[in-house]
Amino acid sequence: PVVTRFAPSPTGYLHIGGARTALFNWLYARGRGGKFLLRIEDTDRARSTPEATEAILQGLRWLGLDWDGEPVSQFEGRARHAEVAREMLANGAAYKCFSTPEEIEEFREKARAEGRSTLFLSPWRDADPASLPDGSYVIRLKAPRTGQTIVHDAVQGDVTFGNEQLDDMVLLRSDGTPTYMHAVVVDDHDMGVTHIIRGDDHLTNAARQIQIYDAMGWEIPVFAHIPLIHGPDGKKLSKRHGAVGLHEYAAMGYPAAAMRNYLARLGWSHGDDELFDDAQAMAWFDLGGIGKAPARLDFKKLEHVSGHHIAQMSDAALLAELAAYLEATGTPALSEQQVAWLSPVLTALKAKAKTLPALLEQAHFALISRPVQIDEKAAAALDSVSRGILQELTAAVQHASWSRDELETAAKQIGESRGLGLGKIAAPLRAALAGRSSTPSVFDMMLALGRDETLARLQDQAG
Ligand code: GLU
Repeated sequence: PVVTRFAPSPTGYLHIGGARTALFNWLYARGRGGKFLLRIEDTDRARSTPEATEAILQGLRWLGLDWDGEPVSQFEGRARHAEVAREMLANGAAYKCFSTPEEIEEFREKARAEGRSTLFLSPWRDADPASLPDGSYVIRLKAPRTGQTIVHDAVQGDVTFGNEQLDDMVLLRSDGTPTYMHAVVVDDHDMGVTHIIRGDDHLTNAARQIQIYDAMGWEIPVFAHIPLIHGPDGKKLSKRHGAVGLHEYAAMGYPAAAMRNYLARLGWSHGDDELFDDAQAMAWFDLGGIGKAPARLDFKKLEHVSGHHIAQMSDAALLAELAAYLEATGTPALSEQQVAWLSPVLTALKAKAKTLPALLEQAHFALISRPVQIDEKAAAALDSVSRGILQELTAAVQHASWSRDELETAAKQIGESRGLGLGKIAAPLRAALAGRSSTPSVFDMMLALGRDETLARLQDQAG
């Protein structure tokens, strides 16, 4: 059975690259009936505040990535990490190194002066374990000094590291705390992780980690190191390209389903398929489809994907998405009345909006109540002629059965009798009903608001 994991360090927010890594691991596991685990790499105690961890969990929840079991705390595993290091000591795969930082620095300086590799070679590597001094020591891996360590990577292919370039890494520090490299391997082994999908900035770490797996005789998981995300200009993604935190995308009003689709395509492809849902992504996602070249962030494409997902959403799903968006942005929730006015036009609005705020912008008429505030541009459409039109229309439709046909016919007749096109009739209507000049179709608004509210809004401006 497949077991994947996402292992973020709590940096204060979920980076878009981290979100993509989590998504790939989630898709891979979910598409194979496997498990997707979460491990918080919280050994840096200063940075690992509960708030920083919560921000990551919050991001994953928003993106809709559910994990199996409780999140594992790496820090909590420190006794187990020390135990494994001592086991390696006992079976000769590791050794106690008593070299002080000063001695190591001295070694390096000398090597540098003599033009040799500055890789530290501990004099304690082959010391007789029976005659060791007392005092402070670290536990180092007795790494192979010759030959090669090969990372058989599902994305990068075979990546070979000469063992002479990999030093005897420290597993346990003199204060008994594990190093990052060691903790990761012990945790991944104990959690039963079968596939490690992560950023290719960890590729060299993989070689070191493989040496620990080998030393313990543990089965090496499948590695898949994915190229990092780049900005639209091809340079490594940074804040100057725009938003890098997932929460910033949420705040811009991209639905989570659209972000999943977009992020899945960022570095992975399935033929020419650009738009898909979770079920398709789970069925299609595989390591072979991950590209070797860094993917570029493309905001145009994101808008397109977002528009597609908004259009596809059921009204109920969209209303839930809007509610989450309003909550996240600290905006009051929609009232029952607002939902009632909004619902009839959702289908029309969905087809056009690329983001949730763009949709809310068009939905403005349903989110306001009388007296309608008229913006400057709309106010220009409310001259005395237009006020006469509103009066005439009110008289024509106040006893109508409020069908689209009747409303349209009434508006057309007024236009014809005055020699005006429908646009000229619609402008004051938009102003009266929405206070704006860019709105959904006036008939859609009239039908959504119903007779009483429509006539009241018209009357407010007709007088
Ligand atoms: N904690 C590491 C990071 O946030 C990930 C380590 C791993 O996936 O092995 O970059």
